[in-house]
Amino acid sequence: YPCDVIRNFSVIAHIGFYLSASLFVCVTDEFLLDHGKSTLADRLLELTGTIAAAKSGKNEQVLDKLKVERERGITVKAQTASMLYDWNGKRHLLNLIDTPGHVDFAWEVSRSLAACQGVLLLVDCSQGVQAQTISVFHNAKERGLKIIPVLNKIDLPAAQPERITAQMQATFGIDPKDVIKISAKTGMGVDNILQAIIERIPPPSGGLQNPFKGFLFDSFYDRYRGVISLISMQDGILRVGDKISSIHTRKKYEVTELGLMHPEEVPTGSLFPGQVGYMACNMKDPADALVGDTLFCVGKPVEPMPGFKPAKAMVYAGVYPMDSGDFPKLEESIKRLTLTDRSVTVSRESSTALGQGCRLGFLGTLHMDVFRQRLEDEHDANIIITAPTVPYKIVYRDREVIISNPTEFPEVTDTASKVKEIQEPVVKATIIVPEGARSSWIVCQRVTETSTAYFGDMMDLCFSRRAEDVEHRYLDTGEGEARMMLTCVLPLSEIVTDFFDQLKSRSSGFASFDYEDHGYRKSELAKMVFLLNSKPVDALAIIVHRSSQDAIGRTWVKKLHKVIPRQLFEVPIQAAIGKKVIARETLSAMRADVTAGLYGGHYERKMKHLENQKEGKRKMKRMGTVNLPQEAFYDILSRS
Ligand code: GDP
Ligand code: MG
Repeated sequence: YPCDVIRNFSVIAHIGFYLSASLFVCVTDEFLLDHGKSTLADRLLELTGTIAAAKSGKNEQVLDKLKVERERGITVKAQTASMLYDWNGKRHLLNLIDTPGHVDFAWEVSRSLAACQGVLLLVDCSQGVQAQTISVFHNAKERGLKIIPVLNKIDLPAAQPERITAQMQATFGIDPKDVIKISAKTGMGVDNILQAIIERIPPPSGGLQNPFKGFLFDSFYDRYRGVISLISMQDGILRVGDKISSIHTRKKYEVTELGLMHPEEVPTGSLFPGQVGYMACNMKDPADALVGDTLFCVGKPVEPMPGFKPAKAMVYAGVYPMDSGDFPKLEESIKRLTLTDRSVTVSRESSTALGQGCRLGFLGTLHMDVFRQRLEDEHDANIIITAPTVPYKIVYRDREVIISNPTEFPEVTDTASKVKEIQEPVVKATIIVPEGARSSWIVCQRVTETSTAYFGDMMDLCFSRRAEDVEHRYLDTGEGEARMMLTCVLPLSEIVTDFFDQLKSRSSGFASFDYEDHGYRKSELAKMVFLLNSKPVDALAIIVHRSSQDAIGRTWVKKLHKVIPRQLFEVPIQAAIGKKVIARETLSAMRADVTAGLYGGHYERKMKHLENQKEGKRKMKRMGTVNLPQEAFYDILSRS
C-alpha cells in the first residue's frame, strides 16, 4: 500500500461523564448520552467487510475488548483497526484508531491523535455540542489535523440536525456543507464517511527510500511474545528480522513479527510508510515500550518525533489487601495490570492500621474505579482503597515538595514556622448547560423558568466548591433553548468527591462537564486525623479546606460511629486538626452481660465465646485498644 491510498484517522466525541461506581445503575443512562463512537467504528468495520455484519442489529462493539468497557459502555484502552475500502478504482487502507472518551483518559486520546492525519468529530444531534466536544475539537485543531464533522443519531425523533449544525458553525466555524449526517445505529449515511475520509484527510507522508522511523503510540503485553507495540510508520520499510533500536532506551531488538490489526492481528511480514500496525521484537520488559518513543534501524539514526507529556497523576489512593497476608499476590496483580495501563503510578506504602499496601496514582476518579474493578474482575483481588487524595504542594522556606499521601502533610506546628504556604491543584472547568426549554424526549413537565434555573444551580454548585474566575456566555441563542457555557477555576479536590453526581442531578442530566489541569493555587488547608480512644488511625487521615473542616469532621465521625463495633468499654471517636478536636461522638460500651440471662449450659457459651474470639482474630486489626475490623474500613472508605 503506497502512502497515497492510506488514511489514518480517529473518531473523537464527547462522552458523558460517569457517576461514581457505587451508583452503577445510573451508568446505564449514560449510554444514551454517549455520542456513538464505538457504534460508528463497528459500522465502518462492517461496511468494509472487516468484520461480518452484526446480526439482528445487536451492538457487539468489537473494539471495546475489556470486560469493564463492555459493562460500562466506555472505551478505556485505545484500540486500532485497519480496513480496506475500494474507491475510485483504488483499494484504500484505512486505519481507525478508537479513542477513549472520558476526561480521565485524555492522555490516551492525545497519543491516539499523534498517529493520525485527521479525525471524525462526532456530535450527537439530539444533544448538540458538549463540554468535551469543545476540548477534543481544540486538541485536534492544535495538532493540525483535518476535522470531518459528523452528526450522529439522525434516526432519533429528538434529532435536530439543522440546529446542531448551526451550533457547530457558531462554535467551531465549521461550514454546514461539510457536515455529514448519519445514523451509526441503522447505518444510514455511513458510507459517505468512508468517502470523506479518503477525499478530505491527507495521506500520511513518508518515503520508501528513507531509513525506517516508527512512532510507538501504544503497547500491550502478551505472555508468550512479550511486549507488542503499536507503531505508526513515519518513514521507510520495516521487515521481520530487522534490527531496531529505541531513541530513548537505546536497547536493541530483532523484529520477530509484524502485521496489521484487522481488527485481530494479521501478520504481513513487513510494514510500509504511513501504515499503522503491530510489532513483536522479544521485548521482555514492558517498561521499555515507552509511548511516544521513536524507533529506528540499528546503524541508521533518525530525528526523534516530538514526545508525549507523560501522564500526570491527579488522584492518589492507598490500596490494601482485605487480608494482609495477601499483599504479595495483590502487588503482583497490580504490576500485571499496570502493564496494560501505563498511566497508573505505583509505589509501596504501609499503614499501622492496614499493613502493607501500595499507593497508586490515577488520572481521575473514574480511572481509579475502572482500575479497582479490573483488579477485582481480572485478578480476583479483595481490596480496601483509602479515600482519594490529590497531590498537594508544600512550599517550605527553601524547597517545594509534592505529597501524595495525607500522612506526609506537615503538622500544624510546622505550618507556622517552616512552611511558607500550601498549594492545591486546580483545574479549569467547563460546564455546558441548556438555559431554555427542554429537549422533547424528556417528559415536558418543566417550563422555561425552571430550566433557566439550571444555569443558576450550576453557578451555586461551583461557588459551593470554591470556584474562582467564573465566566459565562451563550453558546447559541436558539429560540427558547439557548445553551450556556460556564467556565471557572475549581480545586481538583472538590471535583474528585461527589461533584459529578451533583452536577448531574442538579441539571437533570443536561449539563456536560470537562476540565483540564490549571496548575497550583495557594490554599488554606489542614490535615484532619481521626482518633479512636485517643489514638490516631493513620489510614483515615484526610486533607481538608479550612472552610469545610467542621462539616467534614462531623460527617466522618458520624460515619465511623456507625461502622465501628461496640467495645467492652466506651470509645471516644474524634476528628482533630493538630491538637484541636473538631468533632466527637462516643461509642457506648457493649453490655457485658449479653448472655447473662441465658441458660443452657456453660459449654455452649464457652464454645461460642472461643469461636467469636477466633473469628475476631481473623477479621480484626488491633488498633491500640480498639478493634477495627477490615470490613469497617471497607465500609467507610469505599462508600465515601
Ligand atoms: P461511545 O461511548 O461514544 O463509544 O458510544 P457508543 O457507540 O457506545 O453508543 C452510545 C449509545 O448510543 C449506545 O446505546 C448506542 O446504541 C447508541 N447509538 C449510537 N449510534 C446511534 C444512532 O445513530 N442512533 C441511535 N438511536 N442510537 C445510537
Ligand atoms: Mg465507546
